[in-house]
Amino acid sequence: MRILLIEDEEKVSRLIVRGLTAERFAVDVAANGSNGLELAQTYTYDLIILDLMLPGLSGTEVLRHVRLGDAHVPVLVLTARDALSDKVTHFELGADDYLTKPFAFAELLVRVKALLRRGAAQMSGRAHVLRVADLELDRLSQQVKRAGRKIELTSKEYALLEYLMSNAGRVLSRTMIIEHVWDQSFDGATNIVDVYVRHLRAKVDEAHERKLLRTVRGVGYAISDEEET
Ligand code: CA
Repeated sequence: MRILLIEDEEKVSRLIVRGLTAERFAVDVAANGSNGLELAQTYTYDLIILDLMLPGLSGTEVLRHVRLGDAHVPVLVLTARDALSDKVTHFELGADDYLTKPFAFAELLVRVKALLRRGAAQMSGRAHVLRVADLELDRLSQQVKRAGRKIELTSKEYALLEYLMSNAGRVLSRTMIIEHVWDQSFDGATNIVDVYVRHLRAKVDEAHERKLLRTVRGVGYAISDEEET
């Protein structure tokens, strides 16, 4: 699942990114309101974590604009303010939950997971369980199984597989994969994708006669249940 964090305090943002990444979420970060809004309008996120006190465009303004474009993405608001009137205003604007700073990461995580579960339950056409042939990925429990047997994946392998499976049958370029699975500021060589696909193949396909991961030479990768011809 992919989360957008809009937070200008570097210390807070580092803590959240580290924690969420360890929980296998892909996290994009914006340090001000206008960059955050731009990302929110460009990409599809499963959740937005939004600080209210931001330089430039305020969190309140970001929220207003986000809701104009997407009524459904869950938004968790972070703020140092705890006045009741502020909470009411932001719920009216379409925030789904509210967390007052300072907070413990564990509390943030509980709320993030609850919002994602609720979002997933509301999302039609976007199933929690992705399936390609006998390969199954549960986006809530983050479990992956092939032919009923559990497969252990690292967080990056999981994020890569989730991206491929949610676009099953579609060829994804290395650049698209880098942008989605790694953060957008990643400027390393795109052959890191090849390395991770190799790891995934070993775990997902090696023991099975029917191979699901496909290399499309010169283009990228796909996962598909169609028999290779
Ligand atoms: Ca702030």
